[in-house]
Amino acid sequence: MASINTGFSKELSKFGAFDFNACYNCGTCTAVCSLSTGEDSFPREMIRYSVLGLEDDIKSSLKPWLCYYCGECTTHCPQEAEPGELMMSLRRWLISVYDWTGLSGLLYRSLPASITAMTLTALAVIAYALYEHFDLEKIMHTGHIFEMVAIATVFAVILLPNLIRMWNFIILKPGIKVPFKNYVTGLRDLLVHMFTQKRTLGCDDSQVRWFEHLILVFGYLGLLFTTVFLDWFLSESTFVTVLGYVVSIIIFTVTVIFVSERISKKREMSRKSQPSDWMFVAWLFMMGLSAFAVRLFIDLDILQNNIWLYLAHMIILVQWALVIVPFGKWTHFLYRSFAMYFDAIKKN
Ligand code: SF4
Ligand code: SF4
Repeated sequence: MASINTGFSKELSKFGAFDFNACYNCGTCTAVCSLSTGEDSFPREMIRYSVLGLEDDIKSSLKPWLCYYCGECTTHCPQEAEPGELMMSLRRWLISVYDWTGLSGLLYRSLPASITAMTLTALAVIAYALYEHFDLEKIMHTGHIFEMVAIATVFAVILLPNLIRMWNFIILKPGIKVPFKNYVTGLRDLLVHMFTQKRTLGCDDSQVRWFEHLILVFGYLGLLFTTVFLDWFLSESTFVTVLGYVVSIIIFTVTVIFVSERISKKREMSRKSQPSDWMFVAWLFMMGLSAFAVRLFIDLDILQNNIWLYLAHMIILVQWALVIVPFGKWTHFLYRSFAMYFDAIKKN
């Protein structure tokens, strides 16, 4: 028998949901959603589950991830029950459910906890710089090692176990039989959705939004590749230097657009930004900008006298790698891609 959590509405409100209990089940939201199909019908079903507190059914569902938050349903809801925002809140809640450490839930629910995490990581970087007597060369060397170690460790210790937990909730626990060959053939869907987010194109509003996200994904992966694998800050190759400048400019340009959209609140999806949304775009912006500035200072030969700049960049980087990537909004990118993968292997 499905378990019922009578306090689910209250719990979900901590993840950003508004008054979805106002829903009177008219179905308009499902009718206007261009991604909802006979086979995958939402958001009304998820609203019913949330109202009833059917936690286990939500945990085993991929539907919150099949929504790409265009906001059409919210615009047309006669009850102002905010179905689009509910789907977004369910995704945040699911992230907290998948995360074995419990930190995602804590950071989503509590702004003071997020501020504390950011402050502690900043203090750790400053303490390390003090320990090294502000020796720029040593700090930069450690920064580069940190990038490589952090990526591998965060993936192995946090993200991979969380993906296994997600698979458990969605495939294993409900007893869905998936032939092994589907896991292999479905990898194509995983890569396509991960790198192109092409499902966004199914939303009515979406060519520009899809293009912005596509550019951001490639800009972000480009910066990661250039700094971690091509050692941008120490490279003497003109190609690597220019590539680093280009990808960092892409990142801070696209994030400026995202920030201005959140400030202007013109799009439905930007009207109700949570602290985690702000942190994600703000840190991406600062990462692109500070990386650009560090390399510029290196090229102008003035970084040695401005070590504060590298420290600022390192603080942003460490906060990004240890807080936002494993526990914050960055995980949407990963879980959504795997949701498309699990959806494909279930249906094949
Ligand atoms: S959320 Fe709004 S549009 Fe959707 S079923 Fe409820 S009342 Fe109707
Ligand atoms: S936000 Fe858009 S994609 Fe998501 S359920 Fe509503 S209409 Fe569908």
